Amino acid sequence: MTATRRIVVVGAGSCGCVVAERLTRDDTVEVILLEEGATAADDADLDLTMLPVGPASRRVTHHRAVGGQALPRGRGPGGSSAVNGGYFMRWHDDDFAGWDRDSWDLDTIAAAYTDIDGGADGGGAMSVREFTDDELTPIAAAFEKHWKDDGYEQIDSVTPRVGVNRVRSNSRGSQRVPADRAYLWPARGRSNLTVRTGARADRLRVDGSLVRGVLLDTGETVAADETILCAGTLASAALIARSTGAAATRRIGEHRELLIRYRPRGDAGAQLPLLPTVLHTEDGLEIRCYNDDFARYIEGVEPTGAAIGIALMAPRASGSLTIDAAGAQQVDLGVVAPDDITLVRSWADRLVEMLAGRRFAGLLDADSVTVDDVVLTSQHAWGSMPMGGITDWNGAVTGLDGVRVIDGSILPSSGSSGPHATLMMAASVIAARLSAGRL
Ligand SMILES: Cc1cc2nc3c(=O)[nH]c(=O)nc-3n(C[C@H](O)[C@H](O)[C@H](O)COP(=O)(O)OP(=O)(O)OC[C@H]3O[C@@H](n4cnc5c(N)ncnc54)[C@H](O)[C@@H]3O)c2cc1C
Repeated sequence: MTATRRIVVVGAGSCGCVVAERLTRDDTVEVILLEEGATAADDADLDLTMLPVGPASRRVTHHRAVGGQALPRGRGPGGSSAVNGGYFMRWHDDDFAGWDRDSWDLDTIAAAYTDIDGGADGGGAMSVREFTDDELTPIAAAFEKHWKDDGYEQIDSVTPRVGVNRVRSNSRGSQRVPADRAYLWPARGRSNLTVRTGARADRLRVDGSLVRGVLLDTGETVAADETILCAGTLASAALIARSTGAAATRRIGEHRELLIRYRPRGDAGAQLPLLPTVLHTEDGLEIRCYNDDFARYIEGVEPTGAAIGIALMAPRASGSLTIDAAGAQQVDLGVVAPDDITLVRSWADRLVEMLAGRRFAGLLDADSVTVDDVVLTSQHAWGSMPMGGITDWNGAVTGLDGVRVIDGSILPSSGSSGPHATLMMAASVIAARLSAGRL
């Protein structure tokens, strides 16, 4: 059948791959998927025990926040899914409380998650599995036991809750499964899907309030009946500002994180995944028991000790993304609210006490435990064009026709877990509605 509707998707990252695959199941739709990065990750890049995001990495675009914090974002088919930590957890059910119930009921959300993560049995499009006991260092195993003795439940559900949650991961063995392999590879024989790598969208082609496609930085125009931006939280908002000539400051969310460092005794042995287990607390924190020093996972990072992170999953303050009319952008992660500092510090005390306890004796050098004095980033920035605000509840951009954003930009709230599974879930739901002609 001849396609009757031409859709340009900008960005072949976590969401762009889902959207392109879903839309091209319908052969009346033609999709041109534009991706700035020229090459896809190879098997070595996908080693789950390494994150190719260090200062010299060519697999990422290197952004920086005010203050100098590095903000690498995946580049090339798969986008950030090809370089990230491989932690793939659903949000808690009550994280969706502020989402529009007519568009986002929990049954719709659960069904879309299950397509992607396979539900309780695992699998799904992203080959999701729970990390095994063998993938925990002795310290991570002691961490789980400690918090269970302290009264926290071990959560045995695909939907995390307050308690000890073994991390689920989009990985096969020790290889991360990125969105392009999960979604684009099965679709690559479709004649209605064209993937153009090394193709950077410079701006939208706007005619009054109607978007008619995309201009590449080479000057080429790619015309479209509809344009979908999947360029990520930092890039999609900038593309719109550059196209409309309207400078903008957008709020962004980030899971700020404080690290406690220590020197383990002996060596962890075989390379293990970065983050195998987390505690979700009743006061909105994710306590992350990393298996080792970040330096072991990221080339070019100075060794500072193995780490436990205290991440603010419901931060009281937000950061900002400022874009001038030329599209130049500045990311400010912002200050951490005083009440959040107090909360994080009180948990730091509890964790220092934990590490000094009998269960940890012999596992680490007791005098090596330190608490950072700066709060870092989880590399999760979301929400620059939130649904229910700058976009409607399906990502359509307010004030413009023919353009939609479907990526981390549109998450309207923070979640108690990382964003990856949830933004892919949202992409899958919106793309299915588009495909069914419901939008
Ligand atoms: C280092 C790191 C570790 C992380 N670890 C985890 C984790 O373990 N668990 C978790 O839940 N979350 C994690 N995250 C967050 C998660 O990976 C991201 O939120 C998610 O992948 C974002 O998906 P996206 O579709 O919004 O954007 P991306 O996947 O970043 O895709 C955007 C794509 O658009 C392309 N692009 C950008 N601009 C243009 C343009 N102008 N023209 C053409 N193409 C363009 C980019 O090259 C990229 O391929 C991590 C993120 C990073 C960076």
